[in-house]
Amino acid sequence: MSLPTTIPQRVPVGQEPLPRLVRPESLRDALDAAWAGCTPYRGGTVLFGEFEGWQPQPAALVDLKRVAELHGVRLQQDELVLGAATPLQAVLSDPLVNRCLPILQQVTGMIGNIRVRTAGSIGGNLCAGERSSDLLTLLVALDARVVMARSGGSRTVTISDFHLGHRQVDLQPGELLTEIKVPAPNEARAAYRKVQFTGRPSLSVAAVVRAGQPDIQHVVIGAAGDRPQSITWPLGDQPATEVIRELAYASDHAFGAKYKRAAAVVLVERTLQDLAAVLTASEPPPC
Ligand SMILES: Cc1cc2nc3c(=O)[nH]c(=O)nc-3n(C[C@H](O)[C@H](O)[C@H](O)COP(=O)(O)OP(=O)(O)OC[C@H]3O[C@@H](n4cnc5c(N)ncnc54)[C@H](O)[C@@H]3O)c2cc1C
Repeated sequence: MSLPTTIPQRVPVGQEPLPRLVRPESLRDALDAAWAGCTPYRGGTVLFGEFEGWQPQPAALVDLKRVAELHGVRLQQDELVLGAATPLQAVLSDPLVNRCLPILQQVTGMIGNIRVRTAGSIGGNLCAGERSSDLLTLLVALDARVVMARSGGSRTVTISDFHLGHRQVDLQPGELLTEIKVPAPNEARAAYRKVQFTGRPSLSVAAVVRAGQPDIQHVVIGAAGDRPQSITWPLGDQPATEVIRELAYASDHAFGAKYKRAAAVVLVERTLQDLAAVLTASEPPPC
């Protein structure tokens, strides 16, 4: 066996070469950069944390902050459309969100702190694929869809199909999440609660009744197992304890699965009480 004549130099921690940074101002240029292999980011509140130690740094990044097409909220054909790079704080203070979908404003306001919400985006929250995402639980309950684009095309899937499992999403290399679409926002009356001991929720419940199906309660339990779990039952009925207990529960850094199972029964009951109160309040103004 021959020994190598040169010993490779170890790069000291903190002196690794910086990734190449691309800062496009159009969606087309952002898609080209993503297609060329640049890793997308908006706030970096998840991505840059991953660089600290255990994840290899990408060779190139594409910053989505300047891409106007990925920002803002609008109503389009009875859907509330949110640009994926819209910061959480902008969602929270958007007049259209406040008027048409106040539950989204309420839940976004529960996320992290002002620094996280100012830098972090709605798309980044979903693309990170965390099971402990408040927005994931709520958007599944609201039957939201997400739009992904790549150079030369786009596709739309339900948010339930997009989230494949804890930290796994249906996002192909070169694709960007561009929009989140909530159908008929004004027809949904909703309530949301969560149990949270540290930075992220350990259990969350979103309950929704739609004008088209006024006798059905759609309940989604999030952060319990690897994916949000949906159950439906008639409006006004008592929650079926055994149905809630049979769902999947995974321990996390804050609570064991056994605790979550017991807490879920109580949290569902309380969220449905909140929903009943919302339903008896006056109708929201049309948006
Ligand atoms: C201290 C703290 C507390 C938090 N508390 C909560 C909480 O209570 N509830 C909750 O739900 N969340 C919470 N979060 C999560 C927070 O919402 C996310 O960190 C934030 O929204 C991510 O957005 P970002 O733009 O910074 O994502 P980035 O870090 O920029 O990106 C995250 C991931 O998504 C990818 N990505 C980003 N945008 C796109 C895109 N448009 N297309 C394709 N891929 C993309 C990136 O490549 C990366 O893999 C917390 C985070 C922190 C740091």
